[in-house]
Amino acid sequence: MQIAEGTQQEKTGLGNYFIANYPPFSFWNANHLAAAYEAMQSPPKPGTPLGLYLHIPFCRKRCKFCYFRVYTDKNARDVESYLNALIKEVELLAKQPIVGGRQLDYVYFGGGTPSYLSATQLRGLMERLKQILPWDAAREVTFECEPGTLQLHKLQTLKELGVTRLSLGIENFSDAILESNGRAHLSAEIYRAFGWARETGFQQINIDLIAGMVGETWDNWKECIAKTIELGPESVTIYQMELPYNTVFSKELHVIGQESTPSSGVADWPTKRAWVDYAFTEFRNAGYDQSSAYTVVKNKAQTQFVYRDALWHGADMFGTGVASFGHVNGVHIQNVDTWEKYLEKLEQNELPLGRALPVNSREQLIREMILQLKTGSLERKYFQMKFGEDILEVFRDGYQSLANDGWLTLHADGVTLTPKGFLQVDRLLPTFFEERHRSSRYT
Ligand code: SF4
Repeated sequence: MQIAEGTQQEKTGLGNYFIANYPPFSFWNANHLAAAYEAMQSPPKPGTPLGLYLHIPFCRKRCKFCYFRVYTDKNARDVESYLNALIKEVELLAKQPIVGGRQLDYVYFGGGTPSYLSATQLRGLMERLKQILPWDAAREVTFECEPGTLQLHKLQTLKELGVTRLSLGIENFSDAILESNGRAHLSAEIYRAFGWARETGFQQINIDLIAGMVGETWDNWKECIAKTIELGPESVTIYQMELPYNTVFSKELHVIGQESTPSSGVADWPTKRAWVDYAFTEFRNAGYDQSSAYTVVKNKAQTQFVYRDALWHGADMFGTGVASFGHVNGVHIQNVDTWEKYLEKLEQNELPLGRALPVNSREQLIREMILQLKTGSLERKYFQMKFGEDILEVFRDGYQSLANDGWLTLHADGVTLTPKGFLQVDRLLPTFFEERHRSSRYT
């Protein structure tokens, strides 16, 4: 497949750029739910780690670029009903044969905004969860935070309950940019939250940034990177601003056309890539290593991201909460995606599964290969050992054409992305999609 560099593709158009999974979500449907139930009722494949993702779908405010299933209008009683449903879901999952006596290898509280919950709600939730599916053996418990929702005592509670990694959604340090993109926090809250997190003793802190928020400029971006380096988190993740469907920004853009214009304020892809390139260069100069196309870490040997690496290497994961995504025993599963249906299913003691897709062995190989390519390189031997396939033979045409265009280099042990390939890896991945998955919408 040709990766065009024409001007049209370089504008930030509507839709998703980031590829999080394979086969694309548009192929998952309710007709495959029988396969999901069967996967739950079968024993696990020996040696497969099990993780737990919990979706906390509350936010103080909806960011204008957000396309997640989140609610900004729920009261304390709603939150309590949701947390009870979440616990019920984990109870039902813990009884499934797929657990097979496994201990959780990793836990991830994502959102939404998990830190929207109060310390009391968090203690109640986590203590009950730990009784059902203990996470004492977990290598990592990640918790996503919005800086403005943190207090010292909340962080102390999280530490006490076993959270090992905090991920702070900072996105930008400019109050004007934060405000015009609809973020709920301001820069003063970033410093307060970061200070408390260190004071509490968290040694794994990730900072999320977004390149290309509305209103971004070169000067401001440089300042954001300098301020991040000054804070010194263990890891930094940089997303490039997208314009997915169903966001406030995408609806505004519908009025003015299908692609961003100067008036939309979203930079084009070459500008965003230049910003990411600048950031990664600055981080490398400050002693960070790049661990994926989006992430730099302070000390590669010591800073792990178990959740990401487990998923990219085919681990099982229960995705719990409204609209959550999971993967068990070779089947992709997404929960029902409305509040009402989610609560209703659990009230009836049923798993709230909404749609699924069984993934055949070729698709599993492609899935792991494209996800691991996001680390910048692939090890030929890994795929030979796990799938009995030589990726450089099976996908020879695809790799050769990407190599010819300068996106990657081929060598006896595998594949390494070139710097320009690393900066836009998501655009390269459809090269390896099965024919029937190429032309469809991704989500
Ligand atoms: S904080 Fe995150 S989940 Fe909440 S609205 Fe903003 S982008 Fe969406």
